[in-house]
Amino acid sequence: MNNYMDEFMGAFPFEGLTYDDVTLVTQYADFLPDDTSLETKFTARTKMKIPFMSAAMDTVTEAPMAIAMALAGGIGCIHKNLEEDDQAKEVAKVKGYLNGLIDAPVCFHENDDISFLRSEKRRMGLKFNGFPVLDDQDRLVGMITSSDMRFAPMEAKKLKDVMQPSPITAAPGTDLKTAYDLMREAKVGKLPLIDKEGHVVGLYSFTDVQRLAENQHPTYNCDDKFRLRVCASVSGGKGDISRLEKLAAAGVDAVVVDSAHGHSKGIMDMTKYIVNNFPKIDVIAGNIATGEAAKALAECGAHAVKVGIGPGSICTTRVVCGVGIPQLTAVYNAAKALRGSGVAVIADGGIKLSGDVPKALAAGADSVMLGSVLAGTEESPGEKIYANGRKYVVYRGMGSMAALKNGKGSRARYFQDNESEDDLVPQGIEGMVPYSGHVKSIMTQFCGGLRASLGYCGAKTVAELQEKGKFYRVTTNGLKEARPHDITITKEAPNYRA
Ligand code: IMP
Repeated sequence: MNNYMDEFMGAFPFEGLTYDDVTLVTQYADFLPDDTSLETKFTARTKMKIPFMSAAMDTVTEAPMAIAMALAGGIGCIHKNLEEDDQAKEVAKVKGYLNGLIDAPVCFHENDDISFLRSEKRRMGLKFNGFPVLDDQDRLVGMITSSDMRFAPMEAKKLKDVMQPSPITAAPGTDLKTAYDLMREAKVGKLPLIDKEGHVVGLYSFTDVQRLAENQHPTYNCDDKFRLRVCASVSGGKGDISRLEKLAAAGVDAVVVDSAHGHSKGIMDMTKYIVNNFPKIDVIAGNIATGEAAKALAECGAHAVKVGIGPGSICTTRVVCGVGIPQLTAVYNAAKALRGSGVAVIADGGIKLSGDVPKALAAGADSVMLGSVLAGTEESPGEKIYANGRKYVVYRGMGSMAALKNGKGSRARYFQDNESEDDLVPQGIEGMVPYSGHVKSIMTQFCGGLRASLGYCGAKTVAELQEKGKFYRVTTNGLKEARPHDITITKEAPNYRA
């Protein structure tokens, strides 16, 4: 509980504040930014290594973005402007990315010459050893390891003379954790997966399996089977039940019941339905901007709420409909209403620069969702284009005319499922953002900015920042002072654009 924050926000009872309206106050620190932890609550029951999520938008998150985000420690939310099967396939790509399983391993035959294996290895540039050996009907009969090759008797000619017969195998679908346990116990470096006919359908290699199972990549956001975590968005009402079932079958970890107005019956009904029928899936519901809405969604069983009505860079909801609450106040309202409940708060939209992130967290958010910040990356599905000699990436609102025309998900988000094209009323715009390289480097900048901020605020963790963060209100002159001024920028910084 942060009394200072309550007093500060209480000083603006009928006034909405946003990120540029405040600045964080420095506080004593007896540690360095490198000693801070960015771990946070993703939902009431799942943690995340860094407080970043990529937006469920058709120009931001499909499998490549979700993979990059999870490798960095965050999570991606696959958008719903895809057919159900295609969205589930994107989820499956993320879940399958790190399985350590080689789908089509290089195999040899028992009557192949030993010299043939050596020359093939050279020809294919293979650095590893350990190959399945098959009979003339392609059934597994043995394994060849580097020792078998090295200690092969002079007179041995064929692979069948030196291979290890009757190798340890496992069934198709064996997960990484089971494979790890089996390989450790049997002390084997390779574990072929074979079907009922004895055909090889995959191969685990201990080096890969060990790297994942022993957490040698501490930043990865993985589930308990060492697969990357992924989220996907669905619509409210009962229309998306079969979508949900397909996402669940593909292994989705969390779903966002996503709408422009989350404090509504369809979203609340769907939230309850998922919580009751898919107990393993984390449920995030939104978007909302009030404490009342946050409580209502938490009562439906949501494990997290997503806050943001109108702060998005591509959003016109506030000007088209005249509704919404400036984002800092909206986040604070939701977080205050949920205090003590464990339900997580995701601040969605309006993040422009890394300094906005600690402000969102200090106001009570547990993580932030990024759209425009990630839209310009290589991993976004947005079209890469050139204008004035520079590279840009197309970025559009899910409520923009193009997105509404193209996707059922967009129409459901903006309650326009049954409108004819002529009657569509957009709440977003279409545009482009500068190309910005890879997600990894954006996350490096954002995480670095956040760590430095924690240091300035004397908070070693995100939770501590939520406990003790203090704001000062900024005037227009203060805002001018905060940005680079009285200079012409000659070289672009990796974390600031004028
Ligand atoms: P950004 O990070 O400021 O670009 O905002 C991204 C967020 O804006 C998304 O995660 C959505 O919540 C929201 N959003 C996406 N499309 C639209 C739209 O067309 N109108 C209003 N809000 C949108």
